[in-house]
Amino acid sequence: MRKWKTIEELASMIAARGHARKTVTLTSETAIFVGSHLRTAATKPTRNEVAKIICRNSCSEMCVLCVGLANKICNAYGNNIEG
Ligand SMILES: [Zn+2]
Repeated sequence: MRKWKTIEELASMIAARGHARKTVTLTSETAIFVGSHLRTAATKPTRNEVAKIICRNSCSEMCVLCVGLANKICNAYGNNIEG
């Protein structure tokens, strides 16, 4: 039986086990859920890619306004921290 109701609850449970240096065992249903969410997280753009997407001036170098807005977007929705 599932012990979590929301993704935030599942994330907290997994992180708490990790901090306690305990292993995590997932049911097949939860493993599929976690795997699909990790795959989605890996395809999110980086902060710099978000800045380039939202820049209306097509700045050759990223402007401060676009980087600031990209930071807010990434803080709210997450981003790919790789690269
Ligand atoms: Zn810009």
